[in-house]
Amino acid sequence: MDCTEARNHLLDRRRGALTGELRARANSHLAECEACRREDAADRELSLALQDRLPKRRAPEALRRSIETRLVGQPPRAAAGTRRTRRAPLFASAAFGASFAVAAAFLLWMPHGSDPMLAEAVNDHLRVLYSDHPVEVESGGIHQVKPWFAGRLDFAPVIAFSGDDEFPLQGGAVAYFVDRKAATFIFKRRLHVITLFVFRAEGLQWPALATHPVGDARGTLETSRGFHVLMWKKGDLGYALVSDVDPTDLQTLAVKVAGGA
Ligand SMILES: [Zn+2]
Repeated sequence: MDCTEARNHLLDRRRGALTGELRARANSHLAECEACRREDAADRELSLALQDRLPKRRAPEALRRSIETRLVGQPPRAAAGTRRTRRAPLFASAAFGASFAVAAAFLLWMPHGSDPMLAEAVNDHLRVLYSDHPVEVESGGIHQVKPWFAGRLDFAPVIAFSGDDEFPLQGGAVAYFVDRKAATFIFKRRLHVITLFVFRAEGLQWPALATHPVGDARGTLETSRGFHVLMWKKGDLGYALVSDVDPTDLQTLAVKVAGGA
């Protein structure tokens, strides 16, 4: 069993719906694959949050917005100060935590479609949004973020862009992309979060048709569960940009990252 197949069975396995030989094969894959164990643990956390703190369904769009607000800062109208503000932050943060967990779980549980790389990119972006510490190294600029990856990765992430006023770089982290480590760069675009994953390209099931221009490379632009994903290969490396920003913003950032004109 490979990672892609194993991940298709993780939810059933946790629900006890996996039996016989399939269960044994999934178990033995998990026993030897750290990437899938981490995936399973992260998904289990979301499932528990959903069961325990359920304020029932809300609009995923509004919740996704609040997740991003949490990560990139307060919306402008939240600044009002009154005599009640001493208690408000605690309440707001508890209520927010619950709605946030539900949104993340809802989005993870939505049907993933048939493209495993697209599903992976969106899930990994959700983990960045969901994480209490999405940024492992704060950005004082790309010159702090890039060297930080040395020793944490078995490749050097090549990116030609160090952030600007339009797309400020928030920081970096190490994540898993399918079965391998990925350098994660977190950018902001107004109140949106954009995640860039850079990883070794070899051995992944890349989409057959890459027609979307990204500098001098060609990529694919797809949408899943409300997020746009722009993926391309350059040299030995694969790149995935994920966000709910307008696709033209994603395109603009991709060209900067790829170093095209
Ligand atoms: Zn695996």
